[in-house]
Amino acid sequence: MPTTTFTKKNLGIETVEPAVTPPPGEVKTTFAHKPKLAGAKSRKRDIPEGLWTKCLKCGSMIYDKELDANLKVCPKCQFHFTISARERIHALVETCSFEELDPLMESVDILEFTGVESYLAKLERHKNSSNLKDAVCTGIGRIGKHRVALGVMDFGFLGGSMGSTVGEKLTRMIEAATDKGLPVIIVCTSGGARMYEGMFSLMQMAKTCGALALHARNKLPYITVLTDPTFAGVMASFATVGDLILAEPCARIGFAGARVIKDTTQSELPPGFQSSEFLLERGLIDAIVPRGELKARLCYYLDFLMEGREQLAALGK
Ligand SMILES: [Zn+2]
Repeated sequence: MPTTTFTKKNLGIETVEPAVTPPPGEVKTTFAHKPKLAGAKSRKRDIPEGLWTKCLKCGSMIYDKELDANLKVCPKCQFHFTISARERIHALVETCSFEELDPLMESVDILEFTGVESYLAKLERHKNSSNLKDAVCTGIGRIGKHRVALGVMDFGFLGGSMGSTVGEKLTRMIEAATDKGLPVIIVCTSGGARMYEGMFSLMQMAKTCGALALHARNKLPYITVLTDPTFAGVMASFATVGDLILAEPCARIGFAGARVIKDTTQSELPPGFQSSEFLLERGLIDAIVPRGELKARLCYYLDFLMEGREQLAALGK
């Protein structure tokens, strides 16, 4: 019996199909390449790259414009994404009120440090990718009715590490605030001191705290906001000496990493012991403030903290 064949067009590829199904014994299924799942392919085609972001906590897809409008907080589960220093400043201060201090200051490679990549090459790469000169942006701006000195760290620049430029910029900002009688607010995020600068980065811990002590002696308030993650040298210096210490929800906060503590103490650590919620319960943090409420809460605290000072100024003291 003669068999007839016909051709079928399928996505531009012509295949020949026999009209009669061959017996099972003769079927040989071999694949030169692993077949791709059709579902995954069409899903990828439906979601254009760069328009949607997958939430790292709940996994839902969020439209980027919606995410930006919500200050990079997932509208479904309130997960707080990392936010850049400039985005944070834009969200906190009144429009056109921010004057940046020392915008051109940058680090030098005093130790001529070279690992897999030289320190200078790393600095250059991060300068190009972040549009910043170093891991902090400082300036004087207005939040509500209050003029404040505001420093915001950026984790995107070498893990927000504190080198001599970060320390110097913050110290100058604190000294300017002391001179002008302004409160200081620092939004922290950091992996710690910058190892490429050795002792020069550790010196910044004492320098920033010295400037803050002088600021406090002038009875001026200092508020810190700890965001995910804040660790090591920053945590052990200016991040934890605020009159008020605020934190974002679920931020990882600590000094050493969990594994180092476990190896050193040889003991089991409680779950979530390096989270803002755990530290709030134990009194290290004064309040957990969601990103969307931060500006209003800062205004509220500044109203309270600066009121006494304004009364003293009125009395000429
Ligand atoms: Zn989510």
